[in-house]
Amino acid sequence: MIILIIVLVGLCIASFIETTAYRVSRGISLIHPPSFCDSCQKRLKIYDLIPVVSYAILGGKCRYCKAKIPFRYLLIELLIPSLYVFIYLNYKNIYSFFLLSYLLTILTYMSMLDIDSGYISFIDIGLLYLGSIGLIVLSYIGLIPKGVSFYLYGALTGLALILLSFLIILLIKKKIPMGTGDLLVIPAVTIFFGFRGALTVLITASVSGLFIGIALILFGVVKRNYKFPMIPYITLGVIMEILLFQH
Ligand SMILES: [Zn+2]
Repeated sequence: MIILIIVLVGLCIASFIETTAYRVSRGISLIHPPSFCDSCQKRLKIYDLIPVVSYAILGGKCRYCKAKIPFRYLLIELLIPSLYVFIYLNYKNIYSFFLLSYLLTILTYMSMLDIDSGYISFIDIGLLYLGSIGLIVLSYIGLIPKGVSFYLYGALTGLALILLSFLIILLIKKKIPMGTGDLLVIPAVTIFFGFRGALTVLITASVSGLFIGIALILFGVVKRNYKFPMIPYITLGVIMEILLFQH
């Protein structure tokens, strides 16, 4: 029963962050107009908005104009509930479950914004820090297993490595390599995973970013001077760490 509730809540949250990211990155109000097709602008009926189910019934196409619905919507609607359930089943502590689910949700949302607009606002970064503060408070009062210093080492490791790579790129390319937003995001993420976990997250992010980036350029999907979004790779690193190590 509890698993079913987690799946349903996960589906709703996935759908909510997809809509919010779509609207925020295009400067559309969150409330108005009601959901519409990106291609033919026709207003969508409530039964075309059921996560996963509608995508499957419609074969991934708009009911009216048959334009393809981006595959990533289905991917996120499958990924978010699955990860929630995985964390619930594998992490003994209920607060860890809430904290990690929160982190994954915000990162997935920010990944979509990063891909669509390359712009992350301070409100989004603030949402990440809200999670980090919650983590430290819960650790301090002893509701999660590890102590405050474990988490602070994670933040410091993230900060040190990102500053180091910043400096190296600055020295080689003689220009500022990334936005201050990226600089703020890293420690707020690695704080969740301690020293070793911070390394896993950042190494996974760098390696996957490098290979996927090269592949995208080779296959002509993006141009050589394309500004690669960083947050999707950080999110990939976080998913790896959660799946493999942090039980
Ligand atoms: Zn349409």
